[in-house]
Amino acid sequence: MTVSNPLSYLSEQLESWRQAGTYQRLRQLESPCEPVSRFDGREVINLASNNYLGLANHPKLVEAAIAAARKYGAGSGAVRTISGTMSIHMELEHRIAAFKKVEACVVFQSGFAANAGTVSAILGPEDHIVSDELNHASIIDGCRLSRAKIHVFPHKDAARAEAILAELASASGRKLLITDGVFSMDGDIGPLPALVEAAEKHGAIMMIDDAHSSGVLGRNGRGTVDHFGMHGRVGIQVGTLSKAVGVLGGYVCGSKDLIEFLYHRARPFLFSTSHPPAVAAACLAAFDILEQEPERIERLWDNTRYFKAALHGAGFSTGQSETPITPIMVGEAAAAHQFSRELFEEGVYSTGIGFPTVAKGKARIRAMVSAAHTRDMLDRAVEILTRVGKRMGLLTAQSV
Ligand SMILES: *Cc1c(COP(=O)(O)O)cnc(C)c1O
Repeated sequence: MTVSNPLSYLSEQLESWRQAGTYQRLRQLESPCEPVSRFDGREVINLASNNYLGLANHPKLVEAAIAAARKYGAGSGAVRTISGTMSIHMELEHRIAAFKKVEACVVFQSGFAANAGTVSAILGPEDHIVSDELNHASIIDGCRLSRAKIHVFPHKDAARAEAILAELASASGRKLLITDGVFSMDGDIGPLPALVEAAEKHGAIMMIDDAHSSGVLGRNGRGTVDHFGMHGRVGIQVGTLSKAVGVLGGYVCGSKDLIEFLYHRARPFLFSTSHPPAVAAACLAAFDILEQEPERIERLWDNTRYFKAALHGAGFSTGQSETPITPIMVGEAAAAHQFSRELFEEGVYSTGIGFPTVAKGKARIRAMVSAAHTRDMLDRAVEILTRVGKRMGLLTAQSV
């Protein structure tokens, strides 16, 4: 008897991606995450990490992690609601709440878990979600898990979001208006003030995902709400500990009752083990640095302006970006992946991004600037980008 492989369709799909030039091998990082890192045996300028402030390998974070592992062990032993709430987890939550100037905070295992766990916990099938079309996958999954009705508005179109809320005025159920603070693929900033006004006018809950704004926007990196001066007007703020903070995790900030509700109902909190103590300790050390060294954030923004000006001078388009997330528009996905591979050979690592992560025809490489890059590294990166871009005909075809 010949046994057919019921998973063979996966192999066929992989083969079609190979044919299309969109198959991606995982590159292996063989050094700490630094502005120049070793991937696959090669030293390259690292424009592919979210380590905005250079904290991922900062000695103070590393030492804090080691000390916590020595003192409290490698693992927490349980989910938060059973016996896995260590005092250092509570210390981190109190620290973040104070930093963000809110009543309370809950830390999740990741930003993904924070979004998906929160939206699915607070809403049900009778409720409505009004969501930007470019919101992050973790928001989309949380919306789906909640089984609420999802109303998608065109990217950053606050007027359309308001119109949807107005149309829902007589509908029963709760309403949630949700946006990314900074959009992860385009690097543009959500129109928070207009969205908050729409939410207030129609009694909707306002939620913002500040994954790429945490440590980047606002005073000392307090995020989009601080950047726009909207303290007290956004009911739910999500942030991440995995990007600028340099470690791992996600958090939700808001009222004490919101946080206590999530302690009781957010499924990743209830059903998945808490962070190792080393993670919480390293995050605490990162918040010390955010508070004591705001000049790191200045350097991040200086580098961002410098790098973008050089790219524009060379003839590249960086799309709608307003932040250190720097898309370099290419067009077709296969070309973006090819560009990324050729750059790597020349000493720059910047990932290619195509459909389904971004719309068809809007493929790009995404260059992430950090505070830790030197001017010399950025100069070299632009020189290599320009050389490879010219060779591939990307600079002449570029019209956007
Ligand atoms: C990265 C990201 C997340 C997920 O954060 P992790 O901590 O890496 O899980 C959530 N939302 C947005 C907008 C992101 O860019």
